[in-house]
Amino acid sequence: MWGRLRLCASLTPAYARYAIMSGVMTTDILNLYDLALPDLEALLNGWGEPAYRARQIYRQLYIHLVADPLAMTDLPLALRERLAAETRIGTLQLARLQTADQGLTRKALFQLPSGAVVETVLMIYPDRATACVSTQAGCAMGCVFCATGGRGLLQNLTPGQIVEQALWAARELKNQEPRTRNQEPTSSSKVLSPRPSSLTNLVFMGMGEPFANYDRWWQSVERLHDPRGFNLGARSLTVSTVGLVPGIRRLAGEALPINLAISLHSPDDVLRSEMMPINRRYPIAVLLDATRDYIAQTRRRVSFEYVLLQGKNDRPEQAIALAELLQGMLCHINLIPWNPVPGTPLGRSDRARVLRFQHELVDRGIACTVRAERGMSIAAACGQLAGVPVGEPIPLVGA
Ligand code: SAH
Ligand code: SF4
Repeated sequence: MWGRLRLCASLTPAYARYAIMSGVMTTDILNLYDLALPDLEALLNGWGEPAYRARQIYRQLYIHLVADPLAMTDLPLALRERLAAETRIGTLQLARLQTADQGLTRKALFQLPSGAVVETVLMIYPDRATACVSTQAGCAMGCVFCATGGRGLLQNLTPGQIVEQALWAARELKNQEPRTRNQEPTSSSKVLSPRPSSLTNLVFMGMGEPFANYDRWWQSVERLHDPRGFNLGARSLTVSTVGLVPGIRRLAGEALPINLAISLHSPDDVLRSEMMPINRRYPIAVLLDATRDYIAQTRRRVSFEYVLLQGKNDRPEQAIALAELLQGMLCHINLIPWNPVPGTPLGRSDRARVLRFQHELVDRGIACTVRAERGMSIAAACGQLAGVPVGEPIPLVGA
């Protein structure tokens, strides 16, 4: 608290009260990424600066991706120096960067001021680039098949810490070296495939459960979408939830039509509760009621994710039961062959079982695709994000 009060000395009293109450000030110095444009205007107003200065800074942060106030050369030097002295731009420290798939999959490990770590994955395709970002360090949901769930919840991320992961991905894309023909991954092909230079999609499918950190997470959605700044279309954003029903109901009422994915993973309550403890609180019938209401209210199709575990939830009878459960619903199923997590006694469904499962669903009129995984060699695929074990030193980049 004292740290927070000290920090507030440089802010207007009204803004300081707002900042404390809304929980945006979680570090000992104000993180500009935690501020929406009106908050930035309030801060600058308190400093006696005109509102257009706030808009200039906002553009520098989210359009030009500038992370050093001194580099904001359209601002007077005195203001740049004040920003450098009294605020910070970002709180994530890049601790490790791993690449796979010839550099087209990139996984960053970030350390938070608390020492906790989170991971972010960037996947580059010829026609799009997708960032998979974390909303919490760790996760309290304890799903047995997931690496993140194994260590419990360490901390909620602030809006700025969620946004900053997208900005990292955007900078990676902006700073890509142009490829020569020799570096082309498909060397057999003579045609250079294009590579996007900016982020086109973002999925909240990294570490953590977004709806367990709803307010901060939603602020990050609004910031990333803001056409005056980062300008990512609502339909380019997808949130995945373990099935927190209050979050689904809340999302249905939000103004931005982002995509919703729900982790289902089993057509029956006994097995789902065994795999995902949250099912005891929100069993399948309750979850699907909320989903139907969501579809009725928004008229948007939802995706169901279904992780396939050999011999557990991948039998043809289970596919048939799943098809019955979802019959008539405006939905799509994304099958995800389980990605190995060390220390779990689970197995990944083999290709034949995956295809049979898909076949049963498609046969019954359920739209269904198998997710093509990226980054398994660097543990960057779905559910493999675990950071590093507590107590293990984090290797700092350049150290
Ligand atoms: N907490 C949210 C979002 C993060 S997990 C959720 O659970 O939906 C993103 C997706 O990865 C979820 O569908 C989750 O069930 C899936 N997942 C978790 N562990 C996995 C693993 N080891 N292999 C494949 N998918 C996994
Ligand atoms: Fe948390 Fe999602 Fe992993 Fe479950 S699958 S433990 S909700 S991150």
